[in-house]
Formats: sequence, C-alpha cells, structure tokens
Amino acid sequence: MRALIVSDIHSNLEALEAVITDAEGRGGFDVIWCLGDSVGYGPDPAACLDLLQSYPLVAVAGNHDRAALDLRESADFNSAAAFSANWTAQQLEEDHRGFLAGLPEVTTAGPFTLVHGSLRAPLREYLLNEEAAASTFGRLTTSYCLVGHSHLPFLCLENRDGPRFVQFSEDEVFDLDERRQIANPGSVGQPRDYDPRPSYAIYVGDGVESSGSLERHRVEYARTVTQEKMRIAGLPRNLIDRLNHGV
Ligand code: ZN
Repeated sequence: MRALIVSDIHSNLEALEAVITDAEGRGGFDVIWCLGDSVGYGPDPAACLDLLQSYPLVAVAGNHDRAALDLRESADFNSAAAFSANWTAQQLEEDHRGFLAGLPEVTTAGPFTLVHGSLRAPLREYLLNEEAAASTFGRLTTSYCLVGHSHLPFLCLENRDGPRFVQFSEDEVFDLDERRQIANPGSVGQPRDYDPRPSYAIYVGDGVESSGSLERHRVEYARTVTQEKMRIAGLPRNLIDRLNHGV
C-alpha cells in the first residue's frame, strides 16, 4: 500500500492540490494520513476539508482544528493566529464542524501512530529535542510515529543510547526496519524551514509489518494565488508574507 502523509495544510488549497498532483505522478496513493492543522492561517478551510475527505482518509486533530471549533482553544495564539482562527470559524459549514469535532487526538494506521504534536501532549507539544522524543517513544505502542505541529521535517531513530534526530532528506528513500522511528513530513501549507515549497511524505509498505519505506518530497505551487485570496479575505499581512519565505 501507499499512503500520502500530510500535515499542517493550514487552509492552503493550492499547496494541497499541488501535493496531491505530485504524489499521483509518483505512483499515486491508496489513502491520505493527515496529522492535523488542516485549517487555520490560510484562505480555504472549507475547500481543503472537502478535498481531503474526497479520498480515503485517516486524520487526527491539531490545535488549529480545535481552535476553529472553540475559540477558547486559541487563548495562547498570537494575534494573527487568533484573528485567523476567528475568521476560519466563520467559513465552516455544519458538516465541516462535525468532521473536525470527530477527529481523535491520536490514532493508528498499520505500524504507525498518528498524532499532531507528541504522545505526551497531542495538541500542544513541539517534538523537537531528544527529551521530547524519548517521552513519545516511551508511550509508543506501534513501530513508528508520525507527528506534525512544528512544520519542520525530520526523522528520529530510537537508538540504544537514546533518540537520534537525522535529516529527512528530500527525494531519498528511507527504509523502515525493526528500529522504532518518529517522522515529521514537514508542512504542506505553511513551511517553516526557510523553504516555501510544500513538503509531504509517502509511505510504501504492506501496511502491517515493521518494514517498507518513507520518502519526502517538495513541490512548487501557485503561491501568489493563495496570497491574493488571503488579501481579499482580509487575513493578516504577516501571514501572507511568511509564505514567501517559508517561516
Ligand atoms: Zn500548524
């Protein structure tokens, strides 16, 4: 089976469409695994949720998905993020709200556990250091874990002497084996690793055993179209500008 792994789409329809087209050109996929924050920041929350749901989908909730349902969840957001959460809430129909409300914080798909932040704090924690990785490995009951939230791609291997972060290099095939791993595919809709191109991953394997492979790819997209929609919607200027720089 082949799974398209996406995270932090953030209502960026052009980026999501470009990722799907690119993945289809690389052999396609049987299912989308989505790691949360499908909405927030960008101009197309409803269309992104509709497009995701038009495919077989396994998805978990992100903090922005929750904030779109309940603005109290945006209490720790900066002013631009809080503004966009409020704006996003107004764009959603009842069926979108029902979909978001039904998303679990943690789920499993084959040998993978899917979570937005970490297994210690599914909606909040940025899994970026060895202590945080060890905490998630300690709670992990499957072979591998997929996370988003930081918008920074990485692989983290569980070594005998502790977790070790390695580069999840673009266009390379990483074989999976009995060693446990945590992977972040990067962000589709708002990359923050100083590269504005949407980032995503593909899993190829039998969907059961601790084997198969992961690969990560990036793709160009119609960024100026997204930015023009954001201008028309009156979304904050800094959210529009950051898409140019991948921050
Ligand atoms: Zn996010």
